[in-house]
Amino acid sequence: MLKVHSRCDLSCDHCYVYQHADQTWRGRPVRMPLATVRAVAQRIAEHAREHELPVVHVVLHGGEPLLLGAAGLREVMAELRAAITQWTRLDLRMQTNGVLLDEELCRLFVEFDVRVGVSFDGDRAANDRHRVFAHGGSSHDHVRRALALLRRPEHRASYAGILCTIDVRNDPDLVYEALLAESPPRVDLLLPHATWDHPPERPGPEPTPYADWLGRIHRRWVDDGRPMSIRMFEALRPGGSGTEAFGLAPADVLVVEADGTWEQVDSLKTAYHGAAGTGFDVFDHSVDEVTRHPGVAVRQDGVAGLCATCRACRVVDRCGGGLYAHRWRTGSGFDNPSVYCADLLRLIDTVDAYPPPTPTVPADGSTTSPVDELLDDLATGHGSASTLALLAATQLSITRALLAASRDGSGSTPAWELLVHLDQSASEAVRAILAHPFVRPGLVRRLHSSAPPGLGAAVDPLPALAIAAALRAGVPAALHVPVQADTITFPALGSLVLPGLGESAEVTVRPGEFRVRGGSVEQTVLLDPMAPPSTGWFPTRDVPVPGGRLLLEDGDPYRDCYGQPVQSRLDGPAARALGRTLAEAWRVVHRDVPAHAAALDGGLRAVVPLAPDPARPLRSATARHAFGAVAVTPHSDPETMAVLLVHEWQHAKLGAVLDLYDLVEPGQGAQIRVPWRPDLRPPEGVLQGVYAHLAITQVWQSRAAADPGDASANAAQFLAWTRDGADALLASRSLTAAGERFVGRLRHALEETRAGSG
Ligand code: SF4
Ligand code: SF4
Repeated sequence: MLKVHSRCDLSCDHCYVYQHADQTWRGRPVRMPLATVRAVAQRIAEHAREHELPVVHVVLHGGEPLLLGAAGLREVMAELRAAITQWTRLDLRMQTNGVLLDEELCRLFVEFDVRVGVSFDGDRAANDRHRVFAHGGSSHDHVRRALALLRRPEHRASYAGILCTIDVRNDPDLVYEALLAESPPRVDLLLPHATWDHPPERPGPEPTPYADWLGRIHRRWVDDGRPMSIRMFEALRPGGSGTEAFGLAPADVLVVEADGTWEQVDSLKTAYHGAAGTGFDVFDHSVDEVTRHPGVAVRQDGVAGLCATCRACRVVDRCGGGLYAHRWRTGSGFDNPSVYCADLLRLIDTVDAYPPPTPTVPADGSTTSPVDELLDDLATGHGSASTLALLAATQLSITRALLAASRDGSGSTPAWELLVHLDQSASEAVRAILAHPFVRPGLVRRLHSSAPPGLGAAVDPLPALAIAAALRAGVPAALHVPVQADTITFPALGSLVLPGLGESAEVTVRPGEFRVRGGSVEQTVLLDPMAPPSTGWFPTRDVPVPGGRLLLEDGDPYRDCYGQPVQSRLDGPAARALGRTLAEAWRVVHRDVPAHAAALDGGLRAVVPLAPDPARPLRSATARHAFGAVAVTPHSDPETMAVLLVHEWQHAKLGAVLDLYDLVEPGQGAQIRVPWRPDLRPPEGVLQGVYAHLAITQVWQSRAAADPGDASANAAQFLAWTRDGADALLASRSLTAAGERFVGRLRHALEETRAGSG
């Protein structure tokens, strides 16, 4: 770790370099002279050559390394690469606060193959609790701009991840979501540096607030399907590889200060003034000489180098006594457990306990992974409420990731700022709006300019999203919102159609109403459903169903994602008639197949009316990007509508699973013959068909049990189709191992269904 610049442009009050016990920075040069860089590079090259190392890792650090500027950094990186790469591979990295990062620097990092980690503590409130300028101003916008630059496709290879220092006063959910929104390849969560002399803050009565706080994030992370690498959790799992902070691996970090002195890991600066010192420097001493320093040598001894308490601890192989610096106590030195001992013990237990330890071991000795559990649950035909909640949560994560990606191209806009603000102050409102099924199709269309034109061209969807969230939260706000064909649609809430609005209108949200001003038009819309309807305002309509309220979505421009013509806004009687049919159909599903009804309750939120087609009066559809919605042609038969809802909801669930896992081998060109269509079908299409037919089989078998008649014939036909389709899939060798397990279990469920039906 090279301290190439020993000053910083931020003034974080949790900084161990400037704010803790060690103050040696005061006597050091501001920047590492080039002659010193050259000497360091030679020492590293010499060590790599003598020990035939396959790779060395060098981290440019500070203070703040970007204060060197592009020209200074180029010199440093060129020296290091020239001296070291003739002997070994150089993994060159940087840790920065991001404030000064710009496009020129990003290009430089790509050129020199430097991987950049950015220090960022989460949402605005969390980040600005500590990470501020000397005048107290926020660094949040600066850091987010830096992260957006690194996320760009041309810079992405240089994006190493985020380093986040924990403060248990921050909201762990908001911190987790803020980190996830930045799409980091890896997150390092750091316990704030503390010792037994200066223990960590423990606000509140709980004995292990750090374990509790981290446990909350761990649960979210597991529930979301581990969407990013979080090194702490990966390191603490049984068999985890450990880090500088955990485990028993030998310490392998040395620091070179700006004046060329060798030091031990710089977290020791938190222990006492001069704690990291070795008395060696790069001009006169080799790496081997430094590693013989007692402070470094003791950290090569594994469990033997720990205190008696740690040596006897049941989790010592995973905890390793915690970070070396955190063991310090005046009198006994480092011969102590970590000052976070109770938290570490509990955190390891938490990581072990969630998800629950691997369950049943079948007779054949095979074990079940979390992926297997999810697929096994869905292969019953329906899936439990917790599985549905998991699928909905992962779909929301995908929408959030798309939101962050769509914002990258447009920088930090007022709409983004409003969304971020609401995400912190009214997160439920933001969550409800983002979970609207047609938010993701809008974002996808925005991101893929090649998307086919149609209703709803690729305008920036963020302003309307932000205003919708403000309206839902009842929070005053104002933004300019794009207008399309005289229409502004606020997702999940409704559409405003006012001829003459122009291309953009100013929308101002006030309690109970909003005002729109654009072109030649100014209009106030009252949101109270009991108030007289406001001119041009068409609110969404919904019907009560057992799972909550089901939206009749006939206004959102992105509902055209089904590849079929959609119905324009229904008049009042038609909307009420469709609502009655849907509510009655939902009750029919509860009557026929309660397990499927529970899965509907857990996720179906909107129905889109398709345009009538006399040639095909009974049509229905699902769109992969619109989880939570299905499309149907309006009709009045609840028994038929129930079958359509169950059928399409199967496709929606399986689509959400396929967003997470490959069940079909990628790039498979196989075409499979199926009994329900004359043409050959690709494996994923067959899988979708089989899964939908399994549910329909279960519906008809239930009806046949009550009244055989036609229901028995239908049940027999769907049973045969499902069985033959599943067998064709298994025989095609086009499934992944997970896919084979899924279809195998589904086939088993089918046999049970048949046995149950007699
Ligand atoms: S950005 Fe890093 S080095 Fe600078 S003050 Fe903050 S914690 Fe310290
Ligand atoms: S949990 Fe405590 S006793 Fe066990 S290894 Fe870690 S610090 Fe030592």
